[in-house]
Amino acid sequence: MKTIKKTGKSCEKCGNQNLKTHLATYPIKVGSKQINVERVSVRECMDCHMLVPTKAGQAKVDRCSMMTFMLLLGNK
Ligand SMILES: [Zn+2]
Repeated sequence: MKTIKKTGKSCEKCGNQNLKTHLATYPIKVGSKQINVERVSVRECMDCHMLVPTKAGQAKVDRCSMMTFMLLLGNK
C-alpha cells in the first residue's frame, strides 16, 4: 500500500478537494498598500471560497508585487 502523496490540490483551509481553477482578481499586499492583480490563475475552494494561486498564478502575483514594490520605492 502506498501512502497517498499530497498533491497540493486540496484546500489548505478546509481540506476540500472540490477546487475549481479559474481566473480571478487576486488582492495582494505590498507594504501598506493593497493592490488587486487581475486575471490570476487561481484554484477556488467550492466550500470555503478560499483562493489559492496556481504555479502560474503565483508567478504572476510575484511579478506584480515586485513591480509595485519598485514603483513604490521610485515614488519616494
Ligand atoms: Zn476550503
